[in-house]
Amino acid sequence: MEIRENVFLKDYAWWKIGGPADFFCLPKTVGEVQEAVEFARSRGLEITVLGGGTNVLISDRGIDGLVICMKQLVGTSVHEDENFVRVEALAGTAKSELTKIFLKRKLAPALFLCGLPGDVGGGVVMNAGVAEQIEPREFVEIVSWVEVLDLQKNGVRRLRKDELQWRYRHTDGWQPGIIVKAEIIWPNRPDDTISRKVTEATKARRSKQPLELPSCGSTFKNPKPHSAGALIEKAGLKGYTVGSAQVSPKHANFIVNRGGASASDVDSIIRHVRDEVKRQFQVDLETEVRYLGRW
Ligand SMILES: Cc1cc2nc3c(=O)[nH]c(=O)nc-3n(C[C@H](O)[C@H](O)[C@H](O)COP(=O)(O)OP(=O)(O)OC[C@H]3O[C@@H](n4cnc5c(N)ncnc54)[C@H](O)[C@@H]3O)c2cc1C
Repeated sequence: MEIRENVFLKDYAWWKIGGPADFFCLPKTVGEVQEAVEFARSRGLEITVLGGGTNVLISDRGIDGLVICMKQLVGTSVHEDENFVRVEALAGTAKSELTKIFLKRKLAPALFLCGLPGDVGGGVVMNAGVAEQIEPREFVEIVSWVEVLDLQKNGVRRLRKDELQWRYRHTDGWQPGIIVKAEIIWPNRPDDTISRKVTEATKARRSKQPLELPSCGSTFKNPKPHSAGALIEKAGLKGYTVGSAQVSPKHANFIVNRGGASASDVDSIIRHVRDEVKRQFQVDLETEVRYLGRW
């Protein structure tokens, strides 16, 4: 496997933002991930993992050490009987691939997964989910186990779903490590309405979200019981712009890159939005987006 030096990361991030990684690789097998870990260990390099890059703000100054991008570690195997459908998916498998598998079988996870970008590993790390009251609506409901490459031992261990702690847009219990595989499971109970519902949900997302421009989806977590988007809109911040980054006029919790935005433009918006929402409503906003690299 090739490990390249000084690779710009904006091509691997949905925001199209990010400086260079000192070292960068795209493993295709778990063995190659282990090879990458060994490379970093032997040189004393820090490791940063990138999935689909749909939830990360990568610093303009880049990322020190080795970036392991999982998007080529792909593949699924499906096992089904009259009771359950089980899908073993390598971590870099796109969620859209899982959607196809469940859609073909008219199963409910297709509806939950159809609007989620990024890959399976990123979905587990973020406990990705949707706002709609549907079942399932978060990754915790569809995962039965994950396989994690332990960074200290450089060996793989399997963790059952109940050995992890699943919270709103976050999981614990697998770190330090790299998620390399997960099993997704769902009762084999076909529903003829799923295909129509997927079409409707996709249409609704397109009308509500600024999908025509690079973003990272929702920038902030919802500070329950409030909605982050509603607070930002009420604060009068829709359209607020720094450089080429902007609070989307279509959806206030999205920050869009209108072309050539820098990470510091986005970060300035994030800080301003936080300050204004705190000043006007006394509510603390926490980012859902993860900051990576040297800040
Ligand atoms: C248009 C748009 C709409 C979105 N809508 C939603 C939504 O409705 N609901 C929702 O929950 N999210 C949404 N998101 C955010 C995002 O898609 C999810 O959080 C997604 O699950 C992140 O997956 P990823 O593979 O892109 O992870 P990345 O963004 O690449 O990484 C996220 C974090 O996980 C870590 N990581 C990634 N893979 C691994 C691995 N294999 N092992 C260890 N660590 C890893 C990274 O270091 C980083 O800290 C949206 C994003 C966009 C751009």
